[in-house]
Amino acid sequence: MSFVQFRLAALSLLALALPGHEALAQDKVVHVYSSRSHYGSEPVFAEFTRRTGIRVEFFSGNNNEVFERLRAEGPRTKADLLISVDAGNLWNAARAGLLAPIQSPTLAANVPAHLRDPESRWFGIAVRARTIMYSTERVKPAELSTYAALGDPKWKGRLGLRSSNNIYNQSLLASWIKRHGEAKVEGIVKGWVANQPVIFDSDSKLLEAIAAGQIDVGITNSYYLARLINQKPGFPVAPFWADQSGAGVHVNISGAGVTAHAKNRDHALALLEFLTSPEAQRIIGDGNFEYPVNPSVTPHPLLATFGTFKADDIGTAAAGEHQAAAVRLADRVGYR
Ligand code: FE
Repeated sequence: MSFVQFRLAALSLLALALPGHEALAQDKVVHVYSSRSHYGSEPVFAEFTRRTGIRVEFFSGNNNEVFERLRAEGPRTKADLLISVDAGNLWNAARAGLLAPIQSPTLAANVPAHLRDPESRWFGIAVRARTIMYSTERVKPAELSTYAALGDPKWKGRLGLRSSNNIYNQSLLASWIKRHGEAKVEGIVKGWVANQPVIFDSDSKLLEAIAAGQIDVGITNSYYLARLINQKPGFPVAPFWADQSGAGVHVNISGAGVTAHAKNRDHALALLEFLTSPEAQRIIGDGNFEYPVNPSVTPHPLLATFGTFKADDIGTAAAGEHQAAAVRLADRVGYR
């Protein structure tokens, strides 16, 4: 027996001895294109490989890089699963024909209907709430109520916003267009613009500016605040759950879909189903401070300190359906 033959024999014996790990010998793999670069290093993928023997190979980039690569490669792509942040990005990928519809009772059970594509081409993995953030030193929660009320003149010069070309705010406006109609959303954004908001190019910088006293209120995703509080206990910013007597807080997802030309479709589906399982949801929540998409899982203890809230269940697909209208609306009212 040559050394190579011996190694192969030893591997087969190992595979027989370790149920569930046969795959290692056959090198099962799933290729993931991800525009969440930090997902690649997350323990949840190592856990998937440990359980299934399926290796996870990543190509990471920003959303445009990943989208353009997937589109340019067409049927030749190596990608089996696309992971992205924001339903607006996933909706665009689905519309471009890059994702395949998936019928999976597991995904249907793990992911509530408003957090996945009505045509089953993408599914939420984690939830982020985009709400009002305020200085705990200079603002009382009783002064806050709705997103629209940030247009009250009392917030003039005290309000911070992301730029309107950021997908998070495009999706926020797009969802509201579906929920409230364009005229009402235009009124909300006009109110903000009249308050001469300070425009930021990142949610974290906006939160730091509240802490530093440059502004007093703003709108960001929940996990950025949780990360800052985790790093700097006593960070003087808190979330205010907006619109609780109305439609509720705007929520969005990070999510994934099996690609239209997946070569390892079964493995991609296995990974997607695993990511929405209670075990994986806890690992993801521990790493990112996002809310679980699976309603059977309780959020990270740090998020429990934020309290509970009513979320708008309009359906995250609205972020894509009304994205173009949201961009036009922002232009029209001079929201940079
Ligand atoms: Fe983000």
